[in-house]
Amino acid sequence: MRIAMIGTGYVGLVSGACFSEFGVHVTCVDKDAGKIERLKRGEIPIYEPGLDDLVARNVAAGRLSFTMDLKEAMQGVDAVFIAVGTPSRRGDGHADLSYVYGAAEEIAQHLDHYTVVVTKSTVPVGTGREVEAIIRRVRPDAEFDVASNPEFLREGSAIGDFMRPDRVVIGATSDRAGEVMRRLYRPLYLIETPIVITSLETAELTKYAANTFLAAKITFINEIADLCEKVGANVHDVARGIGLDGRIGKKFLHPGPGYGGSCFPKDTLALVRTAQQVGSPLRIIETVVDINDKRKKQMAERIVAACGGSVDGKTVAVLGVAFKPNTDDMRDSPSLDIVPALQAAGAHVRAFDPAAMHEAGKLLPGVEWAGDAYGTLEGADCVAILTEWNEFRALDLKRVKAMLKRPVMIDLRNIYNPDDMAKAGFIYTSIGRPTPA
Ligand code: NAD
Repeated sequence: MRIAMIGTGYVGLVSGACFSEFGVHVTCVDKDAGKIERLKRGEIPIYEPGLDDLVARNVAAGRLSFTMDLKEAMQGVDAVFIAVGTPSRRGDGHADLSYVYGAAEEIAQHLDHYTVVVTKSTVPVGTGREVEAIIRRVRPDAEFDVASNPEFLREGSAIGDFMRPDRVVIGATSDRAGEVMRRLYRPLYLIETPIVITSLETAELTKYAANTFLAAKITFINEIADLCEKVGANVHDVARGIGLDGRIGKKFLHPGPGYGGSCFPKDTLALVRTAQQVGSPLRIIETVVDINDKRKKQMAERIVAACGGSVDGKTVAVLGVAFKPNTDDMRDSPSLDIVPALQAAGAHVRAFDPAAMHEAGKLLPGVEWAGDAYGTLEGADCVAILTEWNEFRALDLKRVKAMLKRPVMIDLRNIYNPDDMAKAGFIYTSIGRPTPA
C-alpha cells in the first residue's frame, strides 16, 4: 500500500514512520523547508525516543521518504493523511482549522484516482464533512472518500503507543474507505487491537471526549491533592485506594502542577466552545479548564511561599521546563506560567531541561540556562522540579544541599519521598502529601 502524510510534526512524522514499519510506502510532506531538508539529511527535527532509528531503518528500506511536493507524494496513493496542527484560534478558543482546510484544497488539486482523504489531526465535529465539501468544490469530478482517524499517541512514548494502541478509531463514509483503512491497520488487527469503526462525526467527537475526560481526571486528582494537604491525607494513597477499583482505573491519577502540552489545553477549550455553540454546554469541562488555568499560576505562589514569602532578588533553580519528560515540546507547558510569574516577583531563574531548552529559550526570556541539573544550583535559594525527567529522580542530595544557599526543594511532580527529604535535611514541599513533623 502507499500513503502520503501531510505534516511532519509529532503526529505526522511518528505515524508516517510507523506505517512504513508496517510495510506501507509512505511519503511525508511538509511546507516547512527546513524540516524537510533536515529529514532528508537523516536528522529528526523533534525529540521523540526511538524515532531516529525507526526513520533511518525505513528510509534505508526505501519505504519512507520526505518531500515538499504534494503532487509527487500523492502519486498512486491509497490514502492521504492530514496531520497538520489545529491550535487554539486566537481570541475565542475554537480550533483553528485553517491548516486542515488549506491541506484539503491542496489535496483536491492533485487527486487523479480514487483516494481516501483521512483526517488524523484532532478536529471538531463537522470538519470531515467540510473537508469533503472543499474538495468537492475544487474538484467536482474527483473520486474520493473522506475518513476520520484520530490519533491517541502520547509524546515521549509515541512509537509504542502507535504500534500497540489500546484501540484504533476510524470514522468512514463508505465501505470502500473503511476497507482501505482496515488494510492499512492490518498489522494491528493481527495483534487483536480493537478497531472502532464508526461515523465521521462519532470518530471526531471520540477524540475530544477522550482528551477532555483525561484532563478532568487529572484535574480531579489535583483538587483531591489540595484537599489532602488541608486534612493531612496522602494523595498517592488515595489515588491507589480509588485506582484499584476497575471502574476508576489507576492511570492519570498523579497530581502535579496542572496539565499542559500541545493537546489537553487546546482540546478542552475547543470542545467547550463546540458544546456552547450547539447549545449543549459541558459544564464539567468548563470548570476543568478554569481550575487548570488557575492552578498553573498558583504553582508560582507555592514556590514563593516555600522561599519564605518572597523571591525578590533571589535565585530559583528550575529543573525541567517541558510539559512532560521525554519530549522537547513546550506548548502550553506549566513552566510558561510559572517561570514568568517568578521573574515578575523579582526572582532570577536558572534552569535546565534535557531536551527542551532550545525551544524554551525562545519562550522564556531572561532565564539563565545551565548545562546540567547541578549547574542550576550553585548559590540558589531553592530548587523547583517542574518536569519529572528520570535524571532528576536520583540527584545526589548531599551535593544538592551543599550547593544551595538554603536546602529548599519544591517538588511539583512528587518524585521524592517527604520522609527521605526530611532526613536529608531539606525543607521539602510537594503536592498533596503531609510534611513530616
Ligand atoms: P505539529 O505542529 O508538530 O506539526 C504540524 C506540521 O504540519 C508542521 O510541521 C507544519 O509545518 C505542517 N503543515 C501545516 N500545514 C501544512 C500543509 N498545508 N502542508 C504540509 N505541511 C503542513 O503538530 P502535531 O503536534 O503533530 O499535531 C498535529 C495534529 O495531531 C493536531 O491536530 C493535534 O491536536 C493532533 N494530535 C497531537 C498529538 C501530540 O501528542 N502532539 C497527539 C494526538 C493528536
